[in-house]
Amino acid sequence: MNDRIDIHGVRISNVTMEETVSRIFAMLEEDRLHTVFTPNAEIIMQAVRDPSLAALLNSADLLLADGAGVVLGSRILGTPAREKVSGIDTARALMRWKTVRPTRYFLFGGKPGVAEQAAVHLLSDYPGIVIAGFRNGYFTPEEVPAIVEEINRSNPDILLVCLGAPRQERWIEANAAGLQCRVAMGLGGSLDVFAGTVKLAPEWMRKAGLEWLARLIREPFRWKRMLDLPRFVLLTFRTRLMKKRV
Ligand code: UDP
Repeated sequence: MNDRIDIHGVRISNVTMEETVSRIFAMLEEDRLHTVFTPNAEIIMQAVRDPSLAALLNSADLLLADGAGVVLGSRILGTPAREKVSGIDTARALMRWKTVRPTRYFLFGGKPGVAEQAAVHLLSDYPGIVIAGFRNGYFTPEEVPAIVEEINRSNPDILLVCLGAPRQERWIEANAAGLQCRVAMGLGGSLDVFAGTVKLAPEWMRKAGLEWLARLIREPFRWKRMLDLPRFVLLTFRTRLMKKRV
């Protein structure tokens, strides 16, 4: 089976949730930093316009199909992704997994107080994990070395970087050499959901692929950026037509 699916130059890993979890735990056995990114259709459109972002995404050890748009796109292109593997569901699946020793997480991102509140909720939902540390996601460039040091001192296995995309991917790229953890994941607004400051779209909407609609209702000021969704669908159909012609 093809390990990667090309969606407009972004090479998504064709994995199920179960494989994702076991691959991430395998990364913890290897003494180097691994990256896991979770692009949605909007980020793929940004990568179409910005080759350096496409290259950064493609450098990830795992690139997960976050969102129904990406899965739909893969189907239209004739190379269907096996499953939607969203970042937040992956984090939950990792934390649910029974491990011999507790996995240590560092929560990085969100407004002041959010990571802390997320830690409280996660510890009560997943008693088998350790929260090695947390830090809000607002800082000056001068503060970055101290943040990296704080993360390293807390000795996490998995660093969840939740600064929004592509800020979090760029941050991980810029600091990869200094980070001593085994896995760094870009998880967007997940800490807000864990903290309870933002609600995930209802399950039926997520299943129907309507997260974007829930988001538009919640954050209507995003409409301009969300134009990338219809652009993604158009580009996908155009690419498919071109494929058929050759
Ligand atoms: N965020 C952050 N630092 C920043 C900007 C954003 O920690 O400098 C956090 C923000 O608090 C939120 C998450 O990143 O928890 C996602 O932010 P946003 O919705 O703006 O990003 P997007 O979803 O558009 O990528």
